[in-house]
Amino acid sequence: MPYTEDRAAWYEGQGLWAHVSENNWKDWLWHLKNRITSLEQLEQYMTLTPEERAGCLFAKGKLAMAITPYFFNLIDRNDLNCPIRRQVIPRIDESIVSTEEMLDSLGEDEHSPVPGLVHRYPDRVLFLVTDRCASYCRYCTRSRLVSNAQGYNFHPEYEQALRYIEAHPEVRDVLLSGGDPLLLSDKKLDHLLSRLRAIPHVEFIRIGSRIPVFLPQRVTPELGKIFEKHGPIWMSIHVNHPKEATRELKDACERLSFAGVPLGNQSVLLRGVNDDPEVIKALVHRLLRMRVRPYYLYQMDLITSGSHFKTDVRKGIEIIKELRGHTTGYAVPQYVIDAPGGGGKVPINPDYLEKITDEEVVFRNYEGREFRYPLTRTPVTAPASGELLPVKVQL
Ligand SMILES: *Cc1c(COP(=O)(O)O)cnc(C)c1O
Repeated sequence: MPYTEDRAAWYEGQGLWAHVSENNWKDWLWHLKNRITSLEQLEQYMTLTPEERAGCLFAKGKLAMAITPYFFNLIDRNDLNCPIRRQVIPRIDESIVSTEEMLDSLGEDEHSPVPGLVHRYPDRVLFLVTDRCASYCRYCTRSRLVSNAQGYNFHPEYEQALRYIEAHPEVRDVLLSGGDPLLLSDKKLDHLLSRLRAIPHVEFIRIGSRIPVFLPQRVTPELGKIFEKHGPIWMSIHVNHPKEATRELKDACERLSFAGVPLGNQSVLLRGVNDDPEVIKALVHRLLRMRVRPYYLYQMDLITSGSHFKTDVRKGIEIIKELRGHTTGYAVPQYVIDAPGGGGKVPINPDYLEKITDEEVVFRNYEGREFRYPLTRTPVTAPASGELLPVKVQL
């Protein structure tokens, strides 16, 4: 069935927690304290399938379950295939181990000069500042270390990481991630950003966070002030499905935007969640309305326990093909595969190029119509001197 939605509506409200005071609902610490983290709590709110029940028990030693009340409200409890449900409620499929999958599929640990820092690309580093998130995505790329269910013993070494960045003038771009950096207190974030801003060669600072999606209440005016003070701070949020684009998320994005934070979005293509051109189209349109520019669409990493989310790459290409030209250019993310083993992100695009020779380029547009662009210059008139005859010139 094609995906349809009420485009004018923005989901809002306290849902199952209507009895809770508005002050509590707006308090991010209340949401953290009241997260659903056990099978018993979850079963108070909904009927699970046997696969989910078994999944919850299995998840304990792998990647903890945690769902904020705010995000739980977005689940359609009558729909076994609800795309929100699939993202945060474990299934026994997580116990399936396939030979293609790895705990550290992007080879991050090998590219880590000091604990918590990944230096893969020449001019930028990934700085993992915490191993905790507000809620845990079941397809997490860093499930080996987040939530500490596997005893990975992750301890971010801020001083060591900062000293490494200070000592490497080629690092002009620092990406704070984790875990979720916005789980740090205002004071810690303020301190970290001050330290980074004090390094003259660090030009670009960005944060990767799913907090606006799981816990929009965390995006307080005070947090906005910190970003304003250290700006420009860029942010990539992580929305996978239009159902996540609520009134609260929109408001949080506006608070960030008005604090001068340019916003991008990273989605992961997930089987049974958003592997449908209509769903992605509805998502990217909602993002633009929230001042968020779609940035990357990721092919699922080859993560242990994640194979049930894996899609065919041809589906991803089809999705991009159905966006490009058919809708606003700003709405089209770059589809990438993060190369297994640690090759970095590689763009995967529909093929518009038919042929390229010294004479011309032959290509197709979004409708599949063929066009030609000549690479030659053929003057119609002779130059003013009149001595030269028109000739074909190759570029
Ligand atoms: C994704 C990533 C970056 C940032 O890549 P951009 O293409 O600049 O967004 C940097 N370092 C690592 C290790 C990454 O995985």
